[in-house]
Amino acid sequence: MRRLILGLLMVALSVPVVSLAGDEVVVYSSRKEHLIKPLFDRYMKETGTKITWLTDKAGPLISRLQAEGRRTPADLLLTVDAGNLWQAADKGVLGGIESATLEQNVPAHLRDPDHRWFALTKRARTIVYSTERVKPQEITTYEDLADPKWKGRLCLRTSKKVYNQSLVAALIAHHGEPAAERIVRGWVANLAAPPFSNDTKTMQAILAGQCDVAIVNTYYFGRLQKKDPNIELALAWPNQQTTGVHVNVSGGGVTAHARHPEAAQKLLEWLSSEAAQEDFAGLNLEYPVNPRVEPVAQVKAWGGFKEDELNVAEFGRLQAAAIRLMDRAGYR
Ligand code: FE
Repeated sequence: MRRLILGLLMVALSVPVVSLAGDEVVVYSSRKEHLIKPLFDRYMKETGTKITWLTDKAGPLISRLQAEGRRTPADLLLTVDAGNLWQAADKGVLGGIESATLEQNVPAHLRDPDHRWFALTKRARTIVYSTERVKPQEITTYEDLADPKWKGRLCLRTSKKVYNQSLVAALIAHHGEPAAERIVRGWVANLAAPPFSNDTKTMQAILAGQCDVAIVNTYYFGRLQKKDPNIELALAWPNQQTTGVHVNVSGGGVTAHARHPEAAQKLLEWLSSEAAQEDFAGLNLEYPVNPRVEPVAQVKAWGGFKEDELNVAEFGRLQAAAIRLMDRAGYR
């Protein structure tokens, strides 16, 4: 009897629920729950759309979408790093959409040229330095960190992290592989310590006096600064006379087999809108992608900069080459 009830319950749960009240969207998100829930709560309240979500790391979510195929309940994938968005598109789990709203709200270099994904927030991967031991004018470019004057003074996060794979992919796009490899070899030669597992530990190594400069995402610096406004670290904006600061994104796309593609597209459009951008970026101390929206005060105080306008899809296209290059260069 128990088995029968359980069986009936499972059948009931597996039957797609037809919502009479209004739209419904199922989201797979590698953006953490506390960064999406406040926005989803607002959207549900304002529109009556029901949003359900599941969070996990990007790799497992993309694999899950592949395995589920046409049976997937997911309508929308949200993830971080253009390299991951590119992988999702490359594996066929995102369907292309036509949206004048998204094209207007998201600058061209921050979206897939084939319309399968769109950035929703920006983060700069930039140089952070010790305000005790480095003068701001000493920081010029990412390439300059390969100069022997930084020997024993540089800390980096592991090359296994997609953020660094995207950064090196951008170096390849700008300089070609041989020159990019010379730069990465120079970084490795200047390392003060083996690469760290995350950006926060990398900055803590500067605070501990282990090194003087590092490359990190702006929001990780923002979190440390929020805890200690007098922190002896500052952000620099490199490559202002050349390629611009390396920016990466979080973003999303409607899945290839979405059951509610229109509702999913509407949610994506709303996340890119003036109504949502300040909060969506601000919750993680990121930059809005929508040029009509200002970042929150703490982020704004870091100052403006020229950003690299290379299409972020290049980070995905050159990811495999970047991984091989870092391996050859001894960047662990
Ligand atoms: Fe991150």
